[in-house]
Amino acid sequence: MSSFAKIASAQDEPIGIRLGELAESWAKYWPTPATPFWWRAAPPAAGPWSRPANRADIVVVGAGFTGLSAALILARAGRSVVVVDAGAPGFGASTRNGGQIGSGNQKFRVNTLIQMKGERKAVELLREGIEMLDGIEAFIQREKIDCSFIRCGRFRGAMRPEHYENMARDMEDLKHFVRVDSCMISRDEQHKEIGSDLFYGGSLLPNDASLHPGKYHAGLLDRVIKAGAVVHGNTAVLGITSGRAGHTLHFAGFQIQARDVLIATNGYTKNVGAFFRKRIVPIRSAQLTTEIIPAQLFDQLMPRRRVYGNTNRVFFYFRPAPDENRLIWGGRASHFAGDFALAAYSHLARDVLRTFPVLRNVKVSYTWSGLIGYTFDEFPHLGRTPDGIHYAMGYCGTGVSRATHFGRKIALKMLGKAEGRSAFDDLTFPSHVFHAFAKPAVPAIEAWYRARDITGL
Ligand SMILES: Cc1cc2nc3c(=O)[nH]c(=O)nc-3n(C[C@H](O)[C@H](O)[C@H](O)COP(=O)(O)OP(=O)(O)OC[C@H]3O[C@@H](n4cnc5c(N)ncnc54)[C@H](O)[C@@H]3O)c2cc1C
Repeated sequence: MSSFAKIASAQDEPIGIRLGELAESWAKYWPTPATPFWWRAAPPAAGPWSRPANRADIVVVGAGFTGLSAALILARAGRSVVVVDAGAPGFGASTRNGGQIGSGNQKFRVNTLIQMKGERKAVELLREGIEMLDGIEAFIQREKIDCSFIRCGRFRGAMRPEHYENMARDMEDLKHFVRVDSCMISRDEQHKEIGSDLFYGGSLLPNDASLHPGKYHAGLLDRVIKAGAVVHGNTAVLGITSGRAGHTLHFAGFQIQARDVLIATNGYTKNVGAFFRKRIVPIRSAQLTTEIIPAQLFDQLMPRRRVYGNTNRVFFYFRPAPDENRLIWGGRASHFAGDFALAAYSHLARDVLRTFPVLRNVKVSYTWSGLIGYTFDEFPHLGRTPDGIHYAMGYCGTGVSRATHFGRKIALKMLGKAEGRSAFDDLTFPSHVFHAFAKPAVPAIEAWYRARDITGL
């Protein structure tokens, strides 16, 4: 498939409810178009999709950042590569995320990581995180992908005074162990960074970055197709059987025989075997985008146009849209279904207004959600199952640079190259005996965490 029609691009300003009304609307039904803002500039490819050939060296399942990063390397190495996705390529989290990029180290504090893994291993993991951030920038430059990549820096607001002290210690550790540049911004000075009084100061990581995820995905897909891989949307794998001679992937009405298979399905993992079902918990995350905010006000709210987050357990994150004065705001939304759709977005709107009360009358333009892939140890994993199926997944919500990096690493491993070695190789990918209860338990766990965020317990 060398060129795709595009799914009709997202309608401009389709929603129109004010943040204040949304915040107060609680669980009233609201039929939302749920279209990612990013699809306006980069609509997903819509086919037509031909039926794949029934044999390939390698089948990659999942056409997000992981699958495409891997496919690019494999196709350029001369392998015949078929990439399949159950939806349009990029239908998953890769075109639905916040486009915030850190060094991939955000999940654990440095001293927690050292306690868990020992200093040597912790430093190795942290170094590879930095490699992920530098790597995605170098990759985008090398491939000349036009996706608004910018080293904008990240401000993370402390929700309590003690969070500020903890972050300060963590920033010192990051500097000490892996020389990551950072500084702390006190509450008195924070208006230079953010027009909000919600925070007790915060940390600043000046080298963190942002991009337009839709355009990054489109650029990646274009390079993969030009490298000779064949991409098929609306082609869901229904099962995989493995034997000595390789693997058979089963689809509706046909099969593909492949020597190697890569599972790159992260939070959307379905029908690819019990190994993955026991290890990945899908968690829904939601975002909204506002209409264009007057420039003078926008400059007061986010004067440095960075990416932002906070220190809550159930955290929120936000940023300006690339080249536009719109706010893009995200947070968890696990109780997101049917009649509760509005409830998920109304809790986002309440967080926006706690941070920026002045935005009460600003309208919402886009709302959407996506699935992140959680693991039981909160580390991402790559490797091979006992059946010989390769995988890379489990980014726990921070996957823009990690998925790109893990896709590259797993492809290099599949090619038998030494550069495929990763500090994450020897981490056991844990399953859980109660895995079947993990997904239904997420809303209750989140409600408990929210209560702890509010009470500080
Ligand atoms: C709302 C939201 C905000 C986020 N914000 C950020 C952020 O700011 N920064 C950051 O670093 N990360 C963020 N993330 C996480 C990041 O987007 C993901 O970690 C990353 O995109 C994962 O890429 P992937 O290629 O592994 O998976 P995905 O992009 O999710 O792709 C998986 C694909 O697998 C396909 N699939 C599943 N099962 C099958 C099957 N049986 N057959 C065929 N295809 C199948 C799906 O259709 C899907 O397209 C966010 C995620 C969400 C949802």
